[in-house]
Amino acid sequence: MEKFDVVVIGSGPAGATTARYAASNGLNVLMLDKRQELGAPVQCSGAVSHHALVDNTIPISEEFIEASIYGFDIYNQEGNNCKIDYRTIKPDVYGQDNGKTPLGYVVFRRRFDRYLMTLAEKAGTRVLLKAEAKGFEKLNDDVIVHFKHFNENISVSTKVIVGADGLQSLVGKWAGLKTHLNFNELASCLQFVVDGVPVDGLLEIITGHEWAPGGYAWVFPKGHGYAEIGLGVIASMTKHNAQWHLDHFMKNSFFKERFRDAKILEVQGGGVPLSHPLKTQFADNMILVGDAARHVNPITGGGIHTALSAGKIAGEFLGEFIKSGQKASAENLSAHQDKWMNVMGKKMWELYEIKSRIFKTDNIEERNSALFNTMSEYFSPNSPFKKI
Ligand SMILES: Cc1cc2nc3c(=O)[nH]c(=O)nc-3n(C[C@H](O)[C@H](O)[C@H](O)COP(=O)(O)OP(=O)(O)OC[C@H]3O[C@@H](n4cnc5c(N)ncnc54)[C@H](O)[C@@H]3O)c2cc1C
Repeated sequence: MEKFDVVVIGSGPAGATTARYAASNGLNVLMLDKRQELGAPVQCSGAVSHHALVDNTIPISEEFIEASIYGFDIYNQEGNNCKIDYRTIKPDVYGQDNGKTPLGYVVFRRRFDRYLMTLAEKAGTRVLLKAEAKGFEKLNDDVIVHFKHFNENISVSTKVIVGADGLQSLVGKWAGLKTHLNFNELASCLQFVVDGVPVDGLLEIITGHEWAPGGYAWVFPKGHGYAEIGLGVIASMTKHNAQWHLDHFMKNSFFKERFRDAKILEVQGGGVPLSHPLKTQFADNMILVGDAARHVNPITGGGIHTALSAGKIAGEFLGEFIKSGQKASAENLSAHQDKWMNVMGKKMWELYEIKSRIFKTDNIEERNSALFNTMSEYFSPNSPFKKI
């Protein structure tokens, strides 16, 4: 049986970044993903900040960038807006001219996830696609991971498993962790890629219970002159599904004239956890990262930056941990969660508390205004949260 220091399950942003940092810290790493093509089908709008890529040493590459972003335009339910365009706020820094940078990007997840996997592979990670983890069991101080690669059942031994297997993570469940996600904290998201809707380098966020109960609607630039129009709703706050709400938003909102000539080219959807991070993200021989650990910003629903950063923290931690020769007990691996809490977890818990306060009231007008104000503050230049 082959032996590894670390087996990473899932090659999304969290898994690929964990694997890259673990391998570049000298570990023998295997990464599995059940997909045959990473990032496909696309279940993400792909908005990510420039500093998320820089902080996690991901080269900015045309290979995965679809559009550059320079700011935000936040709308309330009636269509009044708060425009935060960094091209006018900090014209020396942000813009298209030489020497200036965008604030962020819309990335194409198929190419982005492949690019991240390539970085992990070049760092020394052994990568297997079409390889679905089926479970693991303890053997002395290590664990045996069982997976199916094409039609072959394979088992390997490892010191630590990293569960980077996304929203519907099984790895945490296999380890006996409480991974249950409340129905009222799961956003159902749907988006169309459309032609015929003008955009101007801004992420447009439309709040208001009328358009997206429990979440918000969005219009993002997609490159090639296309736009993404989408929304996320909390199912327990509406009797309709996301498709009904997207249709209602496009036909009846203050943007209905703007959307009149929209030609729908692609349909993408998926779930986003808007909960707090898992209280326990480790067990014997196992840690969780990314969506699997609910490392998602509960206000914006953004999970790429938090997955990348969590992957970096995990990969660096494992590099030191495995070399120290410590037993991979839950008690020893709890140090990983402590490190994650210090770097980003505390901020995520604060965001969760802010989100919970917004949705605590049954008064929809109060909720609408609190969400609009929070979003506007969140993306402002003085936001204390802009780093996650
Ligand atoms: C509609 C929509 C729009 C979104 N838009 C944005 C956005 O604009 N910006 C943003 O920051 N975030 C956005 N998100 C959230 C973002 O997509 C996720 O938070 C992010 O992908 C999490 O990364 P991850 O690596 O944790 O998980 P994932 O990207 O979900 O990767 C998990 C990987 O694990 C693999 N896997 C699962 N089970 C197994 C198994 N048993 N064996 C092997 N492999 C397995 C999967 O195939 C997958 O490749 C959006 C989400 C949705 C649904």
